[in-house]
Amino acid sequence: MSDDLTLTGITEPKTRKRATPPPLHWADLDSERRAEAVAEIGMPRFRADQISRHYFARDSADPESWTDLSKTQAERVRGELMPPLLSEVAVVDCDDGATAKQVWRLHDGAVVESVLMGYSDRVTACISSQAGCGIGCPFCATGQQGLTRNLSTGEIVEQVRLARAAASEGRVGKPRRLSNIVFMGMGEPLANFARVAQALHRIIDPAPAGFGMSARSVTMSTVGMVPSMLKLADLGLPVTLAVSLHAPDDELRDTLVPINHRWPVTEVLAAADRYAETTGRRYSIEYALIRNINDQDWRADALGVLLQNRLVHVNLIPLNPTPGSKWTASDPKDEAEFLARLRAAGISTTVRDTRGREIDGACGQLAAAQI
Ligand code: SAH
Ligand code: SF4
Repeated sequence: MSDDLTLTGITEPKTRKRATPPPLHWADLDSERRAEAVAEIGMPRFRADQISRHYFARDSADPESWTDLSKTQAERVRGELMPPLLSEVAVVDCDDGATAKQVWRLHDGAVVESVLMGYSDRVTACISSQAGCGIGCPFCATGQQGLTRNLSTGEIVEQVRLARAAASEGRVGKPRRLSNIVFMGMGEPLANFARVAQALHRIIDPAPAGFGMSARSVTMSTVGMVPSMLKLADLGLPVTLAVSLHAPDDELRDTLVPINHRWPVTEVLAAADRYAETTGRRYSIEYALIRNINDQDWRADALGVLLQNRLVHVNLIPLNPTPGSKWTASDPKDEAEFLARLRAAGISTTVRDTRGREIDGACGQLAAAQI
């Protein structure tokens, strides 16, 4: 755990207790270790494939309901290999049932959230990679909580499995397969690199090793942790990279995304360009429009110049104000002007829809309300 934190220069959470780690889970293990784990609980190794099929191909983590295990075997699998990691604390629906936000309590009482969003052409799950976040962006509810801890691979993958099960049960519209995953819930995924990388394998590897989802439909959102962005490129999984930029100039970005002091705008964009070269994929620039803070015409022009000749798409996100914050979303006129200026500069740009607003939709807000 500390390896990632030291590497990225993020300080250890001040209140870190010597807590017990989350129990080991099937989703923590790669294929080889699964066969060993099955043997360790006295079952033949071929059972590993069977268990994986239930978990990754049928989205089931309920050994008692599987007909190919005896009662004793099911109990052993449940106890040793598939303990429940996430218990639901709250679920809130909005957008006429097309959005569902779930808050989960983890084994040690930490709280995280995931959001499921049904659209006409896809179903997207927004998942968390950490409980809290240590980066401290002042406009973000999660940032205001600080970092509690990194999630384990199993805790990340369980959010995906539960989202898949919920989508196919018609939780956000008619029953459909989960098609997209965005790492835009709580936490900075690249500050928890090793576990997130393992989770990516579980998401993308073909069944029964993983869920077999398309890498392109997975989006990794980062504040721009340069070394981890390069490591992500080296994984060779063509996931979509989203860079939370929020300002074209270091002076303002230093205040909106404090880690900019360590990796400034030009270094972050150079790493994103490397990512684009290695994977052949266009990356996204996330830009939360904050009234009178980063939405001036000249900043739109500066952003246009900065992104010239880069393989990017810009997502403008109307700020979802956090409770007690003096900041709010841009005036619609200013938002329209910002969009027009970027487009006039030849930059592909859209305004992100704001799903889940009425349920504290922005990153970390609903979980914050449960703590
Ligand atoms: N830590 C990562 C991923 C989680 S945040 C990151 O920052 O990229 C996902 C996205 O939500 C980021 O682009 C972040 O800037 C944005 N975000 C956070 N708080 C927000 C708010 N109050 N309104 C709008 N967007 C917000
Ligand atoms: Fe952390 Fe992302 Fe929120 Fe910044 S915006 S505090 S990096 S979760």
